[in-house]
Amino acid sequence: MVVTPKSLRTCSEGHQYYKSSDCPTCPVCEQERKPDNGFLALLSAPARRALEQHGITSLQLLSEYSEREILQFHGMGPASMPKLRSALQEQGLSFKS
Ligand SMILES: [Zn+2]
Repeated sequence: MVVTPKSLRTCSEGHQYYKSSDCPTCPVCEQERKPDNGFLALLSAPARRALEQHGITSLQLLSEYSEREILQFHGMGPASMPKLRSALQEQGLSFKS
């Protein structure tokens, strides 16, 4: 492994990270901004927790379930389904049929 000069930086959110030329942005913020799990922010807190409790933290994982299975999760309501459906569609995914 080649040692490159790095400096410890603190981003605007307070995360500390080592800045290097090939990774100029905060990796923690990058992770949080991932569009893949942005869909969780669309949901109400109980619905979000329901998905997280089942380990569904990405649209990829969500697409492995059918709508019926998701609706059976405690806290998940029918009102969340259109949001999930369109979030999946934006990524070219869909619920398992
Ligand atoms: Zn950050």
